Amino acid sequence: MKDEYGLNREQLGIDGLAVPTALRTIITWPAPVLSEKCNDVTTFDHEYLYEFISNLVYTMLQNNGLGLAAPQISLAKNIIVINKQWAGGYIPMLLINPEIADVTAKAAFTMNEGCLSVPGYFEDRSRYSGVIIKYQDAAGKHHLEEFYNQNAFVVQHEIDHLRGKVFTDDLSELKKGRIMKKIIKMKLGRRKHART
Ligand SMILES: [Zn+2]
Repeated sequence: MKDEYGLNREQLGIDGLAVPTALRTIITWPAPVLSEKCNDVTTFDHEYLYEFISNLVYTMLQNNGLGLAAPQISLAKNIIVINKQWAGGYIPMLLINPEIADVTAKAAFTMNEGCLSVPGYFEDRSRYSGVIIKYQDAAGKHHLEEFYNQNAFVVQHEIDHLRGKVFTDDLSELKKGRIMKKIIKMKLGRRKHART
């Protein structure tokens, strides 16, 4: 069922469409697009949306991410993908215009949180262990689904991105400065390697 990019097109709602797939550059914090409040998707049956979905999922999978939000690849729209954990392993899932409709378990689920936009930085964080999410699929159909533990954690992290919030925003200025320096160093290092 997976195509050559590892995408399950039927499950993503892009089945039977000639959708080009490409790896996109992940924007690193503190780029302005990561602090923007994203807008809802209102047009569904659109080639650009299908292509964007395909690229977003492919970029998440190629970077071994548990989730990725549209602003992380430069589009300030309410679109996220998660690599959903289930009994059979992991499966990419698309959520358009997602919102937390209800918190069903306030008990904390703790994970060593990281973000593809903050490379190399991880910190133990707690989030709600059960949430009901209201979202739309690629065809614009509305859904309600409950997420638990790791999946709930990841969805909450990605929805924060759509509200312009990155998990490092709450840290002290000193800590933020250190992380920024590290990211700049990593980027320069990558450039140096690319030249040789
Ligand atoms: Zn993130």
